[in-house]
Amino acid sequence: GGDWAGMRVTVAGLGVSGISAARALTALGALVTVVDGGDSEAHRERAAALEGIEVRLGDAETLPEGTGLVVTSPGWKPSSPLFAAAAEAGVGVVGDVEIAWRLRGPDAAPWLAITGTNGKTTTTQMLASILRAAGLRTAAVGNIGTPIIDVVLGEETYDVLAVELSSYQLHWAPSLRAHSAAVLNLAPDHLDWHGSMEAYAADKGRIYEGNRVACVYNVADRATEDLVRGADVEEGCRAVGFTLGAPGPSQLGVVEGILVDRAFVENRQRNAQELAEVADVNPPAPHNIANALAAAALARAFGVPAKAVRDGLRAFTPDAHRIAHVADVDGIAYVDDSKATNTHAAEASLAAYESIVWIAGGLAKGATFDELVATSAKRLRGVVLIGADRAQIGEALARHAPEVPVVDLDRTDTGAMLAAVQEARRLAEAGDTVLLAPACASMDMFANYNKRGDAFAQAVRELGAGT
Ligand code: ADP
Repeated sequence: GGDWAGMRVTVAGLGVSGISAARALTALGALVTVVDGGDSEAHRERAAALEGIEVRLGDAETLPEGTGLVVTSPGWKPSSPLFAAAAEAGVGVVGDVEIAWRLRGPDAAPWLAITGTNGKTTTTQMLASILRAAGLRTAAVGNIGTPIIDVVLGEETYDVLAVELSSYQLHWAPSLRAHSAAVLNLAPDHLDWHGSMEAYAADKGRIYEGNRVACVYNVADRATEDLVRGADVEEGCRAVGFTLGAPGPSQLGVVEGILVDRAFVENRQRNAQELAEVADVNPPAPHNIANALAAAALARAFGVPAKAVRDGLRAFTPDAHRIAHVADVDGIAYVDDSKATNTHAAEASLAAYESIVWIAGGLAKGATFDELVATSAKRLRGVVLIGADRAQIGEALARHAPEVPVVDLDRTDTGAMLAAVQEARRLAEAGDTVLLAPACASMDMFANYNKRGDAFAQAVRELGAGT
């Protein structure tokens, strides 16, 4: 870490990742200034906790004198004035992942990296579970859990890391070189941050740069394969596809309910390796089987045996609010997919059920709902709309599913979710699924998607208690 001694580093943002970067770089001898546009009580408390580190509040725009490197935080747009000032001064801008990559020791664990519009956290955790089942020391890091700089500099040693990367982190991580990497899918999201779909895709594609063993792509999503073709990789690195259908050569796929690997075959006499059963995947919804195949592909690229894939998938339980089965009441299943905060995610969860009463709505973030509603219309028994932008979904329903009954719930008070669940109960019949998959962000009515999912689960419990 000798390069850091005496270097003037400006850390943008006094949040979890900024604080982690500031501490780590200070410990290595860098002269750190943290800058943040906010100047609230909470900001001042956090600043005070950073003893010995300079913090400048209330100015997010001017570059401190003598800065040699700027470290960004999530949420800071590339167009932020501070970065313009850095560019003007010829100063580099990097993120926490880049710092972690540069700081990792000589005997550092290789990185198996995952990105995509949806499914990143799930797939990263599945991968970690598979690696653990193979007896490897590992952790799921990056866009989840402990800040990645702390993991890399921590006491613990690892054989391999399962690294979730957001498009923001990739944007700011120019020298990252993964052992192997996967892009799960690409759909419009965060375009306000990246500026365009092309820029968003280019940032996601960075994950393949310099891969050594495998670039894993989604056969059903042509854009991910194009990113592999465009990447500059190490000699011998292979393109490996995953598909929900029968796999071709160099692919993983599904044959008669069995996850099958035709890319990394242990016995050369055979041309395919059985990995696990679809029923080993929790939940066994199509999009989640795709996640499992991507995780398996990365684990297999690292040399993990077939049996560990099965054991790891069986040991995996998804995080809360991701297609979580809350309860059955009167023969109706209630499922919380509050994490479906965009249309692509909601489309995946709607595809997992046959007859659905759908609770949707919230903040649309500029999305359009026509495609989602058109593809899902035949599965809808009814719809309950909540939240600020519910009219946009209502209009799409009127265009593509005029026969589906819609309850438009014009409430934002604390009882609104219970009312929504009661309305859904009225529309549902035995055997149906009441699915909270809002396709929207939650912040119009809730602090975050967790709180929205909690409110749904609470409402279902009240419904159950009342029958
Ligand atoms: P991320 O970390 O990318 O936000 P998560 O694993 O937390 O992804 O899942 C977010 C939501 O996206 C889930 O609730 C589910 O509705 C949906 N989802 C998960 N995997 C996929 C996938 N492969 N394709 C489409 N949607 C998905």
